Amino acid sequence: MPRNFCGLRLSVASLLVMLLPCGSSNAAGASRSSESSGSLTTVVIDAGHGGHDRGGIPGQRIAEKDMTLDVAQRLRNVLSASGYRVVMTRDSDVFVPLPTRVAIANSYRNAIFVCIHFNATQRRGAGGIETYFYSRDSLPLASAIHSYVVGGAPSSNRGVRRRGFYVLRKTSIPAVLVECGFLTNPTEAAYAQTASYREKLAEEIAAGVRGRNSVASASYIDQSKVAKSERHRSKRSHKKSARKKKGSSKPTGSEARSGSIDREA
Ligand SMILES: [Zn+2]
Repeated sequence: MPRNFCGLRLSVASLLVMLLPCGSSNAAGASRSSESSGSLTTVVIDAGHGGHDRGGIPGQRIAEKDMTLDVAQRLRNVLSASGYRVVMTRDSDVFVPLPTRVAIANSYRNAIFVCIHFNATQRRGAGGIETYFYSRDSLPLASAIHSYVVGGAPSSNRGVRRRGFYVLRKTSIPAVLVECGFLTNPTEAAYAQTASYREKLAEEIAAGVRGRNSVASASYIDQSKVAKSERHRSKRSHKKSARKKKGSSKPTGSEARSGSIDREA
């Protein structure tokens, strides 16, 4: 697993940002530049699913939407205590469409976007933590969060992965999606159901947010070329033939849900 933890080494992205002029019109560069000067960073926290969208797979006992909201709220508390400005895309059991989540994230400058999810698959033995990003500018954040979460979890390391989930593809700020373990794995589900473990997850994600410029970027698994039809092998899969194959910006109802059904190791 790409741990590559090194507290002293600046990431390549950080070095590049340092070379950008302060007045750069590049949004990402501008956001990182101002952050390095110490201005307040906003963290937009996105609890996956909600309302009629339970997340997970059909028949799953533990509702993913409840776990994601709880971890998101804990993360909010930890980050707020650390002095971050925090915005929640949802703070209760409501359904928020993906474009709305993205619009919220994109309405902030000098911000980062952190999506909280749990995984699911038909094979009970599958488990582990995986962290997704899409834009290169998001790799340092993904690397840092993944490093801390894996370090604090009993679960195996499924790596940092690049993939075009809607909420990652459409956000204009650094954006990461963390899959905090498999709710279909008996051991990981048992952990997830304890408040202390969810608190631990929140603390490790927060540590990754704080350390995003000091953890070396991880090597990653590039799944950005995975066909959309394979990304969404789910209860909606039979509708997919009518959908545009690539480059479509039309979100599915819960695109960010687990794709692990088709890629369990
Ligand atoms: Zn999910």
